Amino acid sequence: AITTPSNFIRNIIDADLADGRRTEVVTRFPPEPNGYLHIGHAKSICLNFGLAESYGGRCHLRFDDTNPAKEEDEYVEAIKRDVAWLGFDWGEHLYFASDYFDQLYAWAVQLIKDGKAYVDSQSAEQMRANRGTLTEPGVDSPYRNRSVEENLDLFERMKQGEFPDGAHILRAKIDMASPNLNLRDPAMYRILHAEHHRTGDSWCIYPMYDFAHGQEDSIEGITHSICTLEFEAHRPLYDWFIAQLGIHAPQQIEFARLNLSYTVMSKRKLLQLVEEGLVAGWDDPRMPTISGMRRRGYPAAAIRNFCERIGVGKADAWIDLSVLEDCVREVLNESALRRMAVLKPLKVTITNLPQPEMACRGANHPQQPERGERELLLTREIYVERDDFMEDAPRKFFRLAPGREVRLRNACVIRCDEVIKDDAGEVIELRCSCDPETFGANPADGRKIKGTIHWVSAVHGRQLPVRIYDRLFREENPDKAGDFRDCLNPESLHETRAWVEPALLDIAPGETVQFERTGYFTADAIDSKPGAPVFNRTATLRDSWAK
Ligand code: ATP
Ligand code: MG
Ligand code: MG
Repeated sequence: AITTPSNFIRNIIDADLADGRRTEVVTRFPPEPNGYLHIGHAKSICLNFGLAESYGGRCHLRFDDTNPAKEEDEYVEAIKRDVAWLGFDWGEHLYFASDYFDQLYAWAVQLIKDGKAYVDSQSAEQMRANRGTLTEPGVDSPYRNRSVEENLDLFERMKQGEFPDGAHILRAKIDMASPNLNLRDPAMYRILHAEHHRTGDSWCIYPMYDFAHGQEDSIEGITHSICTLEFEAHRPLYDWFIAQLGIHAPQQIEFARLNLSYTVMSKRKLLQLVEEGLVAGWDDPRMPTISGMRRRGYPAAAIRNFCERIGVGKADAWIDLSVLEDCVREVLNESALRRMAVLKPLKVTITNLPQPEMACRGANHPQQPERGERELLLTREIYVERDDFMEDAPRKFFRLAPGREVRLRNACVIRCDEVIKDDAGEVIELRCSCDPETFGANPADGRKIKGTIHWVSAVHGRQLPVRIYDRLFREENPDKAGDFRDCLNPESLHETRAWVEPALLDIAPGETVQFERTGYFTADAIDSKPGAPVFNRTATLRDSWAK
């Protein structure tokens, strides 16, 4: 069971259950299948499924597919995959708003018969002009007082496909002077001659979000319909339709959406990045999508922890991307096996290695001995990181420098005896001697070796592709100044190669390891081939991002 800190929504539910207003908790996650899910959706998923789980209720996965123009089956499948991967199970409670089209139509007819809806034939511009403003009341449409018979006839003919897009719309008859603009005769149905991903061309009129969403919730017996703050002013309308129809009344509760720094989250903008080739696809590891994060190697548990940590509130706030990255590191620190890989190689020759190959053992996870060890072969030629050597090293540089000693991780102590340079003066090799007494032991004479560096055998290691990812945007708020695409980080992807120890050749696609001292890396689930993984950098070891 999940232990979750309280939040204002839990307080509402607790009160509803205590006073008998509700006897169960039924929530829903209602994505529109017009794009892939992003980390903002994860917040809503964790909240809705988490509430259902902790109150012994249920959470529905409902595709809110009332807008045919932008919806596709590809998105339906991707969304299911992502919700399941996050660790949530909708069981048999998978629904499509399009399955309710007949019922929604019947309810619209009922409202017409009750004199609460009418067909308006003004142009879109007229309608906009007559809507009024926050300070000015709206103006009644000249069609507002059509007879029930005329409205029924026109609505039926709209459905039959007699009219082009935009010729008429069905509106609720509420109050053109309401201080809440959402109540000024809102649209219920529009004409749209478009192919729907599930209903094909059966319909050429489609319900508007405001007329569809509450009724969908009601049909499914939802008790608490949780949505983001921008729907707060729509709540009176949500309640109005349900009251007029006399059907089960869920309670709409609004919470603050997640905004994440260095990230855009609107599906429209993410689609733009994909379509314009600015990223490699919806699952590009730099994308804030669930599928991108999965491919990058973010564990589902880290995303769930993140959603819990940021909490649920009523005030819009920006969360720093580093909070998510910290959650990723926390989970991976426990789960990832330790391996050695060298990203910027410098050759080291160990001149006095007693045998051509010295067998050493390395713990798979130093804090979890039960996860065992792997064998490593130290050879005469190895690679170390270029940055672990300095020719003119300050006193406190506890790594390699002329005459200085360092411990090779899982092996022995070496001393840098000679620095070899090419004609341009670039250091190309270090010649070192080892202390053969220091395999698995401290130096016999008691001298202290302060530094330990990682290495890879030049004989047994292999060079593999590595993709170093960085933040996709340079600006904290990419939407702030003009076009968000202008602040894409040109260095968000750096492709390089790393020398890796042999154990890494058999890594399973999708598995994440820690390259010791370097970061967490995941074998790309798509581009890796058997015996030839391609690595994505999932996260650095520490929050080291500064630019
Ligand atoms: P976008 O504006 O990114 O396209 P949306 O709200 O139109 O998102 P939907 O598919 O309608 O996308 O969203 C499904 C659910 O996810 C909704 O209940 C919505 O409130 C919630 N949701 C979307 N974005 C966020 C966010 N940034 N934070 C929290 N919840 C979100
Ligand atoms: Mg939406
Ligand atoms: Mg949207």
